[in-house]
Amino acid sequence: MKKFILFFFFPFIFYAQEISFDKYYNWLNPDEMSMKTTQVKDNIYMIEGIGGGFGNVGVFVGENGIIMIDDSFEIIEELLNEAIAKISNKRIKYIINTHYHFDHADGNRYYGKKGIPIVSHHNVRTRQAEITTAYGGIFDLLENFNVPAHEMDELPTVTYENTMNLHEGNETISIHYFGQGHTDGDSIIKFNKANVVHTGDSFILYGLPYIDITNGGSIKGFIKTLTHIAEICDEDTIIIPGHGGLTNVEGVKKMRDDLQLYYNTTISGHKKGLTIEQISSSINIDLGKTNGFGDPLTVKHNFIRSILLENNIIK
Ligand SMILES: [Zn+2]
Repeated sequence: MKKFILFFFFPFIFYAQEISFDKYYNWLNPDEMSMKTTQVKDNIYMIEGIGGGFGNVGVFVGENGIIMIDDSFEIIEELLNEAIAKISNKRIKYIINTHYHFDHADGNRYYGKKGIPIVSHHNVRTRQAEITTAYGGIFDLLENFNVPAHEMDELPTVTYENTMNLHEGNETISIHYFGQGHTDGDSIIKFNKANVVHTGDSFILYGLPYIDITNGGSIKGFIKTLTHIAEICDEDTIIIPGHGGLTNVEGVKKMRDDLQLYYNTTISGHKKGLTIEQISSSINIDLGKTNGFGDPLTVKHNFIRSILLENNIIK
């Protein structure tokens, strides 16, 4: 876990000052990256990247082909294809993007061009069609990191607004949009028969969550989304988070409660005239830790600042 976080974020320390997407190709070195595959349940697998900060890729092996959830960085498509081939030699039938971020959906540049259908929320297609600039959020290093527009044949081909179901043999795959949260196009994917949920970055395990509030994200919405995720799970549901290992609904509820506390304490603290530092010192839960990345206190302060920003309390 610690290693994962270090690899994920440190590259930005060196390159975020220059807002060129070329740097993405410089800091991701496929020779130093590998894939770890875990069988989640039955015919569902999770592929985690080691050494690059990949979003978790979900793989469902159906009778007529593979359904992939997220496609990671374009540059590691060979590694990803290799990892998938070890699971099954069936063709990739379609891909579902959990959201537009490049560590989850940049592989559209490769798989889209190959003509593989890509399913996403409508706003993913809209955002990928344009240049996007990341919100620094809790990680200052991401500020002004630009991601170039995708070409037409690299965009999602099937989009939805609220919810949709896909049917594969006896499995029904439900895709839910619960409103603004991590971004404004987050999909939560549930394999109903297997009782497995892939949350994308609507739920993660690296500490305080990065929420892209300048690209449609909302901290308030993120908390609400966690409640909706909990509602589609039971105690036996296996959850694949956007980053980190397999978990269950208790982890989701805990994050929801912790973030709600952050939110309420920040708003009430501000009303009492407290500074960000004073609000921060009144919150004693360990979501402020960053598992080795950056300064935990700065991240915590940035999260509190983001809550104030979202509520137009500060500019
Ligand atoms: Zn994301």
